[in-house]
Amino acid sequence: MATIDTTSIGDKTQSVIDVFNRYVVPNYKRFPVCLVRGLGSKVWDAEGAEYLDLFPGWGCNLLGHCPEPVVRAVQEQVAKLIHVPNTWYTEPQGEWARLLAERSFGGQAFFCNSGTEANEAAIKLVRLRTDGRRYKIITFKGGFHGRTMGSVTATAQPKYHEGLGPMLAGFQYAPHGDLDAVEKLVDDQTGGILVEPILGEGGVVPAPPGFLEGLRRIADERDLLLVFDEVQCGCGRTGKWFGYQHFGVTPDIITLAKSLCAGIAGGAMLTTVELAKHLRPGMHASTFGGNPIAAAAGVAAIEMIENEHLLDHVDRTAELFRQRLLDLKEKCDAVRDVRVAGMMIGVELSIDGAAVVQSALEKNLLVNCTQGRVIRLLPSMNITADDVNDGCDRLSDAIIEVASRA
Ligand SMILES: *Cc1c(COP(=O)(O)O)cnc(C)c1O
Repeated sequence: MATIDTTSIGDKTQSVIDVFNRYVVPNYKRFPVCLVRGLGSKVWDAEGAEYLDLFPGWGCNLLGHCPEPVVRAVQEQVAKLIHVPNTWYTEPQGEWARLLAERSFGGQAFFCNSGTEANEAAIKLVRLRTDGRRYKIITFKGGFHGRTMGSVTATAQPKYHEGLGPMLAGFQYAPHGDLDAVEKLVDDQTGGILVEPILGEGGVVPAPPGFLEGLRRIADERDLLLVFDEVQCGCGRTGKWFGYQHFGVTPDIITLAKSLCAGIAGGAMLTTVELAKHLRPGMHASTFGGNPIAAAAGVAAIEMIENEHLLDHVDRTAELFRQRLLDLKEKCDAVRDVRVAGMMIGVELSIDGAAVVQSALEKNLLVNCTQGRVIRLLPSMNITADDVNDGCDRLSDAIIEVASRA
């Protein structure tokens, strides 16, 4: 696999890398690039090079880098009130919860700071509903739910469990899409089903037809809570506010993070008023959850999406991506499948995806690879048609180049 020639790393970048090597825990694989500034779908490094970013903020920067209305809302809020504990009321948190409820199923929000934390809240709520009698939760192979011990146990991918055992008790795994397997796993200790409506890290795989409907039916028949992890597909990315709205199936709980605050850290669990009662005072908390800055950013993100009609823009832009990528599939055998769910895009290859990411980087294009062979794009909702075309040109060149070497 080609790697960036380390002799070409600039001085500014190298000095930052040296500090990391000495002082930062080496738990991430990083490219030898130090990013210093971003705007829209462009980002610049410490040496002044410009990149087109089709994976801004690992799916967090839903509205691109530094979207003006969000920047302004955060700047105004940070000068007024940075943080107060959840022993007090604040205007932004209430307003944020209201906007989320009105765009989902009209329930209530618990706020936290990340996706894994939102899923922990959901896991606790499933258990609390029956005082722990129905503690088991069914999840799906290929899913991803986070890195804390509950969420990572919920993540049915062995590579994330290596060396961590014993895992949390009570999780059972079914093949994705297999309703019969779910029916067989349910017993009188089962309390919930947790699933991503569209697998993200699992390779951008939408639920097969009838699957979510079937899970809803099983949940209703067996008195289970249906939890949708929308940390990656939620908040407008797919052209609707929430992924579940494409399927006509309403869950009991949804979990959100990543795009929720357009790049500021924030997470949420939404549930019905009825179920929310089980999270009584003292049963669960998050010190920074729903803080004024995250709330201001979350409110500004929703308002920007509506003021700029970005849900409709996503539909049009997704169509352009689909056409461009299907054209590429026509002329390049290495492209096996193209999956487009709004601004959540997977290009499944028959060749090594990491080499394509590397080749794209050499063309100043930022993309991601998941599951070894799926190029994943999570472009911003407001990306321009010019940037889509430019990005698809560069990505096509990268794929064709790597395929020709294979
Ligand atoms: C990223 C992700 C998570 C974990 O979110 P963190 O903020 O990293 O904890 C959980 N579920 C899904 C579907 C994700 O994509």
